[in-house]
Amino acid sequence: MISSAELSRRLAATRQRIADAALAAGRQPGDVVLLGVTKTHPPALARAAVELGLLDLAENRVQELTAKRDEVPGARWHLVGRLQRNKVKVLVGTHTLIHSVDRRSLVDALSARAERDGVVQRALIQVNVGDDPDKGGCRLTETEDLVAYARARPNLAVEGLMTILPLPPDGADANEEARPLFAALRQQRDAVRERFPEVVHLSMGMSADLEAAVAEGATMVRVGTALFGPRGAGPWRKDAA
Ligand SMILES: *Cc1c(COP(=O)(O)O)cnc(C)c1O
Repeated sequence: MISSAELSRRLAATRQRIADAALAAGRQPGDVVLLGVTKTHPPALARAAVELGLLDLAENRVQELTAKRDEVPGARWHLVGRLQRNKVKVLVGTHTLIHSVDRRSLVDALSARAERDGVVQRALIQVNVGDDPDKGGCRLTETEDLVAYARARPNLAVEGLMTILPLPPDGADANEEARPLFAALRQQRDAVRERFPEVVHLSMGMSADLEAAVAEGATMVRVGTALFGPRGAGPWRKDAA
């Protein structure tokens, strides 16, 4: 685990990258929320992030999120990985923003649970903008239909779109590869927003390609490695801590 001093330096450097990219694009740096992706890292590192003012933290596995949630007071959690319907109940009503809603059955499960609990669950629709068979997400052409399906549920608030891009080919410039795909997601968001003005967010960009994401309008970037260093061998587990 890296030290708090090292994390502080990495956080400053990452915020600077975001600010530089925002200013170059004529945007305000404050319009981009930095999410720290803490997957595989221990809760102590997540707590250090919160102490340094990085309050938005993301996990890609539900179990890891719920375990850390109890150990990291003050964080705002984001789920950025696949969600199974049987795990919906441990997230709804806990102020977790779910970035990975990509099918009608999940909309049904989330909205049913939220209705039952009398809460409104915030979510983003995940779009597989690069048509990567290994990634979740609806097809780009299905986005508006899925947003409309979800927005018809009063207990589910779809506030934007999210994407995870395919890995760039070896030796390629990640930002260059990513830019047209991020642009496609932004155009889709703009089109959907004409019908559903609440759909504002664009969750896109990671350690290697956040500049392209910010240039194309990202409102949330999800950064793991650049902040916390290389990932551990597997998910952090309570019983292994
Ligand atoms: C792991 C992960 C990230 C962070 O990736 P880095 O390249 O380490 O910054 C971002 N988004 C999702 C969905 C992830 O699973």
